Amino acid sequence: KKIIITIDGWSSCGKSTLAKQLAKELNYAYIDSGAMYRAITLYFLRNHVDWTDEKEVHEALAQIQLEFHYNEAHRQSEIFLNGENVEYVIRDLVVAEKVSDVAALREVREFAVRQQQEMGKKKGIVMDGRDIGTVVFPAAELKIFMTADNAIRVERRFRELYEKNPNITIDEVKANLEMRDYIDSHREVSPLRQAADAIVLDNSHIGMEQQLKMALNWVYE
Ligand code: C5P
Repeated sequence: KKIIITIDGWSSCGKSTLAKQLAKELNYAYIDSGAMYRAITLYFLRNHVDWTDEKEVHEALAQIQLEFHYNEAHRQSEIFLNGENVEYVIRDLVVAEKVSDVAALREVREFAVRQQQEMGKKKGIVMDGRDIGTVVFPAAELKIFMTADNAIRVERRFRELYEKNPNITIDEVKANLEMRDYIDSHREVSPLRQAADAIVLDNSHIGMEQQLKMALNWVYE
């Protein structure tokens, strides 16, 4: 029986790595909900949308079409904003600096959550984010909440970003993670919370293979 698996947690805990591993192993679809908030933020930045103005947000959202397409060459699903592949540009720190402000807006969340729930109608999905087990799929069969030590998270994200931008500093990355975690867990609408029925996975000191094994055990339990 195909199920819905939700993976929530703090920024850069390895949620997407585990989600991709599980999706591949189980032949499920992987949906990166954070990519949707990042793509919306990219659209707002490019089009100089003043997101403190509800009317501007409303009109801008009406212009946004998000889609995920599986990229055979990269062997992963990638996000398209109005037909353009933005999977890579949305990882930029310029987007990361603003995404938590945009994701805190009620109308933005309604826009994204509606589409996420639509995708969940087809069972056999792994979705990662901040509110997937609590708000998007409160009845999901398996909920995982991931954590990892701060220093380890900073180090991992720094290495990832440094590959593309050698000018980036570890302090910038650290400040961004701390800021996003703060905003994400303190916002009024769907703040980051651990679902009461979620299993906690701290992957600070476990390897990728071990983490997959643990999660697969929970799937088959
Ligand atoms: O997962 P990722 O780090 O790419 O998400 C980027 C940002 O999008 C988060 O810091 C958070 O502000 C927002 N987000 C959210 N709810 C989700 C997924 C992401 O608010 N379900």
